Amino acid sequence: MTEYDYVIVGAGSAGCVLASRLSNDRNVTVALLEAGPGDTHPYVHMPRGVAKLMSMPTHMWFYTTRPEVHNAMKPDYWLRGKVLGGSSSVNGMVWVRGQPRDFDDLAALTSADWSWERISRAYEAIENHQLGPGPARGGAGPLRISLPTFRNALTEAVNAAGAKMGWPVKEDVNAPDDGAGVGYMPRTIWKGKRQSAAVAFLKPALQRPNLTVITGAITHRVLFDGTRAVGVEVLRNGQRQQLATRREVLVCAGAVASPGVLERSGIGNPERLAALGVPLVHASPAVGENATEHRALRMQWRLKRPLSLNTAFQGWRLPLSVLQYYLTADGPMSGAAIDMRACFRSTPDQERPDIQTQFGLFSWDLQGSGSALEREHGFCAVTNPIRPVSRSSVHIRSCNPQELPEITANYGSAVQDRADTVAAARALRRFANQEPLASLIKSETLPGSAAQSDEEILAALDNYGCAGMHTVGSCRMGKDTASVVDPQLRVRGVEGLRVMDASVMPFIPAGNTNAPTLAMAWLAADIIQRTRA
Ligand SMILES: Cc1cc2nc3c(=O)[nH]c(=O)nc-3n(C[C@H](O)[C@H](O)[C@H](O)COP(=O)(O)OP(=O)(O)OC[C@H]3O[C@@H](n4cnc5c(N)ncnc54)[C@H](O)[C@@H]3O)c2cc1C
Repeated sequence: MTEYDYVIVGAGSAGCVLASRLSNDRNVTVALLEAGPGDTHPYVHMPRGVAKLMSMPTHMWFYTTRPEVHNAMKPDYWLRGKVLGGSSSVNGMVWVRGQPRDFDDLAALTSADWSWERISRAYEAIENHQLGPGPARGGAGPLRISLPTFRNALTEAVNAAGAKMGWPVKEDVNAPDDGAGVGYMPRTIWKGKRQSAAVAFLKPALQRPNLTVITGAITHRVLFDGTRAVGVEVLRNGQRQQLATRREVLVCAGAVASPGVLERSGIGNPERLAALGVPLVHASPAVGENATEHRALRMQWRLKRPLSLNTAFQGWRLPLSVLQYYLTADGPMSGAAIDMRACFRSTPDQERPDIQTQFGLFSWDLQGSGSALEREHGFCAVTNPIRPVSRSSVHIRSCNPQELPEITANYGSAVQDRADTVAAARALRRFANQEPLASLIKSETLPGSAAQSDEEILAALDNYGCAGMHTVGSCRMGKDTASVVDPQLRVRGVEGLRVMDASVMPFIPAGNTNAPTLAMAWLAADIIQRTRA
């Protein structure tokens, strides 16, 4: 059996950072295991290739939620990347750091290792930002970040209308404050190419003789000697193989898959594991619980003038956009899914901004398949409470690592989330009525002006809403003994096993989750070296 100092399960945002940083010490050997393929497909690297990636089972996990019990909401997709780079190779590429207070709240629940002071230093180390170094912003790190190149009367009107709403117009929407404001969304794109965790962190380390990357390897379970993790069993090319570890197994399979890796290994709710015939190693009922996801309302407006990108992605203009991309590394195919962001209070009495809206310069044809774009020009605002209260669960259905888990989204369980979403929709209607934006808009097409009551707005959330793809919390980190991992990411009750990915965050840091996952993984490497088993 081949033996490594560290075996990392999952080459996503967190796994790539850990593999890179741990293998920087040439005295340790690291194996990085990924269920999906390498990241050679051109759709991974051309930013707008994301629209095609979304339907490629070779590169995506199509996790689906169960029907809701609280309302008529349809089952939702919680998509994840299944490729080197994980979700950072398929995501919308927007770069949102989260607010200082989120990380100080996280530190209070865990340890000072996760305070804003430490996280902001990690961001400074990671980022190579187009705006250059600034407060909590890096200018020389491995991850390139740029601002949208596309600006027109619509994007300028979004800023101007936001200003009339009292939202500060920001050069850097990630300024380390309470997040309030509107502005262009920074993206993990550089010279027209996606900057995934694989591109930024793993590729520069690939030549190291002490780093082994194995793709197409689904980790079935962690192997134990008593309660000490001693290796993993993987499924590769239909064969079971085992890899041994001298030090630790690091589970980085993401917030939807990591609970399953633990459960198949005998760590979880004892009754649940017994029902599936999994021998218990350690009783940890919190595994797979406390999952948190954003459920977003999609609002759309039809434009009077051709100011959106809808037509650039359809018909005869699509090949021209692709040609422009390959000739200039610019144009419609070089942009992120989302171009602008606003963060605001749904009602004036909110203690701090509680809503994030992401503006896209396109509009979906939701009467059709849901993934196609409208032929007419329109724009969308994807809106959700930043800190949702509802909690979901993710559990295995069997011991087969290829069977997708059962997800209970439970979105409707929190009246607060639904009330905040309705308040946000009303605030966005006031925003759309501000000049100069109002003069560009022909009509609101979703939910549509006929939807006025709370129930009518919520019907749009249930029928046309979508997951933010920001799941966290399913292997919650905490000081309390009921948490799955301790503040140093060690799985409670066993030795030589840690989890480091979005699943350890007890709540979503205000915004999107790629940046916080990368920053936490960056710090995790130091913690692992400091507290190694
Ligand atoms: C479609 C989409 C759009 C998004 N858009 C944005 C955005 O624009 N901005 C943003 O900040 N965030 C975005 N996110 C969220 C963000 O990308 C993720 O939160 C972040 O990448 C999570 O990192 P992770 O390391 O926890 O997991 P992942 O990056 O998902 O990595 C987990 C890896 O583990 C692998 N794996 C799973 N199970 C196994 C197994 N049993 N054995 C071996 N390998 C396994 C997976 O294939 C995957 O490569 C988006 C996510 C998605 C899916």
